[in-house]
Amino acid sequence: MGRFVGRDPAGYMLDYSLYNYTWNRVCRASDPFGLYSFDVDDENCTVTLNFKLQFFFDDGVDANGNPLKWTEAEKTAYAETAESLIESTWGGGWKIVPGKQNYQSGSTIEWIYGDWFGVGVECLGPVVVPAYTACPCQSGYVTKVNITSVIGGSNPTDDVEAKVVKIPQGDWKRSYAGTSTASLDSEDVRERTMDNGMVQVPIVHEFGHMIGLHHPCHNKPNNPNCVDSSGAVDEYLDPNTGKPSSSVMGSGMSTSADLMEQWREAVNDEHSECGPFSIERVK
Ligand SMILES: [Zn+2]
Repeated sequence: MGRFVGRDPAGYMLDYSLYNYTWNRVCRASDPFGLYSFDVDDENCTVTLNFKLQFFFDDGVDANGNPLKWTEAEKTAYAETAESLIESTWGGGWKIVPGKQNYQSGSTIEWIYGDWFGVGVECLGPVVVPAYTACPCQSGYVTKVNITSVIGGSNPTDDVEAKVVKIPQGDWKRSYAGTSTASLDSEDVRERTMDNGMVQVPIVHEFGHMIGLHHPCHNKPNNPNCVDSSGAVDEYLDPNTGKPSSSVMGSGMSTSADLMEQWREAVNDEHSECGPFSIERVK
């Protein structure tokens, strides 16, 4: 697609109106490892994060050293529960809403340089901006998550690879997730009461790490709201209030606007002519 340089004082981008809306709906790899993508759908007005997750199930032992073996049914149930918990917690609660269009029909572009409809153009002008065409999805894009899980497999793939060890029910084991591997346990799809009394399902928190998010007070030693009474950083605190964060990246189950930033960026990248986009709560 050609680029235009307009000398109009408004400084708008013209691609949208001049091409009369022929944007492709493109999957956009947005993470450094290419493990997931966003699909901006202008017909259904949704922006979906597509995410692949590969589970490897390891047997464990109970407190008496007796083996704890996964059954095939348990593996399937774990993967299905993880999918639905992540999709319902991270999707549906927010909308990405376009801003005002920043060009005016009827205004004049004095000069255009570069490639126009595949024809090399040194300069062209003046040009009157064509009639206004509305951006799609003026009422906003609903945020969604689509998890595709794979059980086992021999070769490392481009999925996030999650090792899941079976532990006694109700036990506690600290789980970990990064942006390419995760270490989980069989209790991570169940509600867990945290030290501060909040309830969280660990798999939805670990998913946040898989898409590159940190705890709210991560790496904020100089923020007094992130330091506990002993002077140590408590990453699960809310940097604005100093109280335990109810965000899913803290100790709770709520997604906050800042956690939706990647969805906003995805829509903005695809429709920069309709921005700036903002994030609004749907429910
Ligand atoms: Zn964490």
